[in-house]
Amino acid sequence: MNNLKEERTLVIVKPDGVQRSLIGEIIKRYEQSGLKLVGLKMIVPDEDFVESHYLVDPEWRVKTGQKTIDSYKKKGKTPPSENPIEVTAIILKNLKKYLAAGPVVAMVWQGIHAVGIVRKITGGTEPLTSDVGTIRGDFTIDSYEMADVDGRAVRNLLHSSGSPEEADKEIALWFKEEEVYSYRLNNESILYDINLDGILE
Ligand code: ADP
Ligand code: MG
Repeated sequence: MNNLKEERTLVIVKPDGVQRSLIGEIIKRYEQSGLKLVGLKMIVPDEDFVESHYLVDPEWRVKTGQKTIDSYKKKGKTPPSENPIEVTAIILKNLKKYLAAGPVVAMVWQGIHAVGIVRKITGGTEPLTSDVGTIRGDFTIDSYEMADVDGRAVRNLLHSSGSPEEADKEIALWFKEEEVYSYRLNNESILYDINLDGILE
């Protein structure tokens, strides 16, 4: 039971998020959800590091390629290729340039359903279709099509882990064990206590 409350997820504020001066707004959005910030740092990643980050999930190439193809078709457009692996080869090349372009802010958020809650607050991958109210939906504009025409990655401000297993691997890549802190946050007693004892004097 306890470890459900210790689910962790990795968030990266990508170089465009840093350049748009959105670090504070982004942290605020996750922080006010009730999740606990347990690790935080600024890094300039190199391209090899970015590649190892995306390839921690062996399914990433297929899933991301297919998501792109499906999105093109849903809009009645022709995808750059019908083969997800071919689509992802181009995406990865562009992603490496994008993430290595400047400082990024990496953070680890912890709490119940951390991965799902962070994905919801982050919003869908393509800003054109990300829901209003999400960070990607509210603070930026881009589309797969525009990115493909310009030969670059979709600029969507953030990375967030896709599953708890992926999160554990990504956190191990970005943070040393001693850089992720275990500590008690007073808010947690209100989020998690069964009886809310101790409010009234
Ligand atoms: P998410 O970041 O939402 O988990 P993915 O893991 O599928 O999305 O893709 C990783 C990143 O690659 C995206 O955040 C985006 O910056 C970029 N990207 C994904 N698909 C495309 C595409 N079709 N064209 C350009 N860039 C893409
Ligand atoms: Mg992803």
